Amino acid sequence: MDRRELLKQIGLSAGAVALGGTSSVLHAEENVVKRKRVLRIAHITDVHIRPEENAPARFVQCLEEIKKHKVDFFLNGGDTIFAADYSDIKRERVNELWDIWMQTSQAISDFEIHSCLGNHDMWWAAPNKEDAMHGKDYVVKQLGIPGRYYSFDKKGWHFIILDSNNKNAGSLDDEQRKWLEKDLAGLSPNTPVMCMSHYPILAVCTHVVGGNHTDSPYITELFYKHLDKKICCLSGHIHLEDCAVYNNVQFYCNGSMSGFWWGEGDKESAGKGYYKQTPPGYAIIDLFDDGSVSNQYIPHRY
Ligand SMILES: [Zn+2]
Repeated sequence: MDRRELLKQIGLSAGAVALGGTSSVLHAEENVVKRKRVLRIAHITDVHIRPEENAPARFVQCLEEIKKHKVDFFLNGGDTIFAADYSDIKRERVNELWDIWMQTSQAISDFEIHSCLGNHDMWWAAPNKEDAMHGKDYVVKQLGIPGRYYSFDKKGWHFIILDSNNKNAGSLDDEQRKWLEKDLAGLSPNTPVMCMSHYPILAVCTHVVGGNHTDSPYITELFYKHLDKKICCLSGHIHLEDCAVYNNVQFYCNGSMSGFWWGEGDKESAGKGYYKQTPPGYAIIDLFDDGSVSNQYIPHRY
């Protein structure tokens, strides 16, 4: 073979390789399943709404900012009001706090809000258990939710809202455990699941504040039985931004809307209004059709 012939052959085969390469790349691209965003949600938690600190106006500004993210709906992670749970809280104060919630949340009245109960939301100091404002039923009513725990479906995603406020909180009571086991068992394999609780089911910063579910071993073992689903968990309560992954389940604690309860902070606050190193903020979460999640915590400046 002379040089010219050799170059011709190399050229030809190189061309063939290039062609083959190009077509196989195209083929691979056609086979790549591109994930599609099916939902964008806002996760707000620990709003702790109160009349002091100009909190109502500041909270409304936050809601207006969140609306610019074009979310489909809101998840509200509990501790909606400043505090009704202390023994010295009077009826007037509880009414005042809920009234402010009703007024401020008007800013997002065009959106669905799916809320869970926080430990500070319940008025246990009511004169008696028969009082219409006593305990969880009243909070369920104020938040306009179907019950203290519930689930619903949207765009192929299954949402589970838990009530962490039980004995040795955070924890699930027996009735709720049975319900959760049944709810998960009813889902088809590969169903993406978003589970919201007030207390973190699992957080890595417990060396700083504690506050995990005390029954984390039970819940994580239950989730392990459902590895065929794609589970992601959201929480608040500790006012810290935290992320953990265990047995393929993601656990996001999305700080708090109120930061240092709308106050300036203390000597441990890393910035104005921070709780320790976490600024006040909210999360914008994109949910995809393949069960994947993008959780972004966005500090607010209000
Ligand atoms: Zn809390």
